[in-house]
Amino acid sequence: MIKLFAFAIFAALSVSALAQPSPALPFVLKQVGPGVYAAIDGPEHKSGSNAGFVIGDDGVLVVDAFFYPEATRALVAEIRRLTPKPIRYVVNTHYHADHTGGDQVLRNAGAIIIAHKNVRGWVRTYNLNLLGDRITPQMKAQIESLPLPDLVTDKDLNVWLGSRKIVVRTVLGHTGGDLTIFVPDAKVLFTGDMLWRRIAPNLIDGSVGEWVATDADLAAMPDAARTVFVPGHGDVADVKDVADFRAYLLDLRQLVSDGRKAGLKDDALASAVMPKLKALHPDWTISDRAIAAEVRDMDQELSGTKKRPVPQQD
Ligand SMILES: [Zn+2]
Repeated sequence: MIKLFAFAIFAALSVSALAQPSPALPFVLKQVGPGVYAAIDGPEHKSGSNAGFVIGDDGVLVVDAFFYPEATRALVAEIRRLTPKPIRYVVNTHYHADHTGGDQVLRNAGAIIIAHKNVRGWVRTYNLNLLGDRITPQMKAQIESLPLPDLVTDKDLNVWLGSRKIVVRTVLGHTGGDLTIFVPDAKVLFTGDMLWRRIAPNLIDGSVGEWVATDADLAAMPDAARTVFVPGHGDVADVKDVADFRAYLLDLRQLVSDGRKAGLKDDALASAVMPKLKALHPDWTISDRAIAAEVRDMDQELSGTKKRPVPQQD
């Protein structure tokens, strides 16, 4: 049933995207520019997040590694189907395990792992907090053996694939160690989790104040109206989705602030915010569990008690 469903989605896409779609991939591969692909997590969430890749003159740069190594192996197989060029880099948009879990698969395929400099100190530690009560002994072992990035930066960085320029930028708001990846010649921006399309975001490490400022910058980038935005979660997006996501964060902040002013706390605060936030964003997928966590995180940010990952030294 699941396989049939995935295949049906793929069959519908194959008209514009790919000549020989593989059935039952854990993601949907979409070409979003010349030699630029988005791998969008499938409806069963068997990848854990989105990823993507860019094929240049002399090699391939991958953006993010998914959570499940089986999905990452499927991504490598899809790259191999499209090009014989070597996989030279993977850029992690941030440390969260749903984006770094398959790094070893890409390293084994030849990639150098590039990340924000904080990721080296966070990937094997803070990911245990991120998974919280969902963690299994197998996941714990996976997290504690994740590879550390090879090349780290806290500044913007250009990566060249022959004549193809890829611009890696540091951005604030989601974890304190995030990168975006821009392909100027194709006008494609991989945003990592700076953008979620119609899905409630994870704010556990975030600062909504910084985040909405970054998203305002993304929406105002040159040629934004003609830019393809590949979010960390949700389908391929455009600049209107960036504005919609930013509006969601601002609505969340306003509703939590209003509830706090009315003296509401904890479960009562979450119960007051939930129906209003859902009513403002009826086309979003928002679980009660996700909103409860968002309200808790937003409440902590507004009260100044939020604990964020501690920046790392070299
Ligand atoms: Zn994510």
